[in-house]
Amino acid sequence: MSADLHTHSRVSDGTEAPAELIRAAVAAGLSTIALTDHDSTDGWDEASEAARSLGLRLLPGIELSTRTNGHSVHLLGYLVDRLDPELVAETERIRTSRQHRAEAIVERIDADYPLSWQDVLAQSQPGTTIGRPHIADALVARGYSANRGEAFAGILHPRSGYLEPHYAPDTLEGVRLIRAAGGVPVLAHPGTRGADRVVPRDRLAALVEAGLFGLEIDHPENREDAKVALRTLAREFGLATTGSSDYHGTGKVNRLGEHTTSPEVVEEIIRQARGSEPVH
Ligand code: AMP
Ligand code: FE
Ligand code: FE
Ligand code: ZN
Repeated sequence: MSADLHTHSRVSDGTEAPAELIRAAVAAGLSTIALTDHDSTDGWDEASEAARSLGLRLLPGIELSTRTNGHSVHLLGYLVDRLDPELVAETERIRTSRQHRAEAIVERIDADYPLSWQDVLAQSQPGTTIGRPHIADALVARGYSANRGEAFAGILHPRSGYLEPHYAPDTLEGVRLIRAAGGVPVLAHPGTRGADRVVPRDRLAALVEAGLFGLEIDHPENREDAKVALRTLAREFGLATTGSSDYHGTGKVNRLGEHTTSPEVVEEIIRQARGSEPVH
């Protein structure tokens, strides 16, 4: 009965095809997973077919890139209508900006460490939501870093000066967008920067007012002090709490099912959703 509500495939920065991800979830003993690729629903069909044939329950979803005061904030959107025109337009805008931003980052790196856009394309499939992980893979292929983690700690670290942000809507707009597309929005890994930098109370109140459903508290990168603060906020605002792995295949150390979400919360997500249905 265990549910892992945050996973990535090759459609974004995971390393497995959607069907491989479903097989890995079955092998890990999970009964439900959500596929939440960054800013894309392109993996849904392949994942759904695999889930049906292997008897796993799939909650099709998305991890929407948003921004609050210049900081990147990720929103999980479960069971959205993937054809919702506003969601389609906004995710296309984000993906296009991600690509231009990645090209600019590669150009800057190239001045110090020879690297081309071809190197990045070789690490991704056509249509992939491009992110820093694909640049990291290109740096690994060139022999500049041993793995993604090292690339992020080195050349791709903000202090190295090669980065720039991509377009993303405001987080409040993201919550509204996911609800308008019939989905159920959950704030992804809101505690990675510690207890004193979790979402401020008044900001959270506005997100709840816009339709926020829950907080992803059990996440490998949330800090323990932040989890305590977030549980208090969840109680105060009547928010659901979720747990998930944020699995990226071999792209991250996160293991499938290392954190899970209670059956009651999964059922409430399904009950509230209007955009699409779980796949059995
Ligand atoms: P971007 O989408 O370009 O903002 O890059 C952020 C993505 O990089 C996140 O979704 C993570 O999957 C990945 N990431 C961040 N830090 C690391 C790390 N240290 N090792 C592997 N992947 C990472
Ligand atoms: Fe990612
Ligand atoms: Fe994320
Ligand atoms: Zn994620």
